[in-house]
Amino acid sequence: MEVRHFPDPDKTNNDKSNLLHGTPSQNCYDTVAQGNHQGANKENCDKHGTPLEVKPDGSQRFCRACSNESTGRYYRRNKEAAMQRQRERRARLKKGGDASGKPV
Ligand SMILES: [Zn+2]
Repeated sequence: MEVRHFPDPDKTNNDKSNLLHGTPSQNCYDTVAQGNHQGANKENCDKHGTPLEVKPDGSQRFCRACSNESTGRYYRRNKEAAMQRQRERRARLKKGGDASGKPV
């Protein structure tokens, strides 16, 4: 539980009628609704400086360049893991087992 300043968002207004118990999520939504949320007001990527795009379903904003970098890292990491599994599978087949590694 957190204390929200509601309905007046002024943090110096600590009158009992303006204080309300709420969840951290509600407090965060208040910040967005008041236009004071740092991330919600962001229009450009911090790293690339390019404008943020909105996902087709409107759920999130993202940087295309950051997204491409992240996808590239994912595929490079998993490509190595996939090649390792293939080497192990081939080694098992060479020893006379089946592809699952169990003896035939
Ligand atoms: Zn970026």
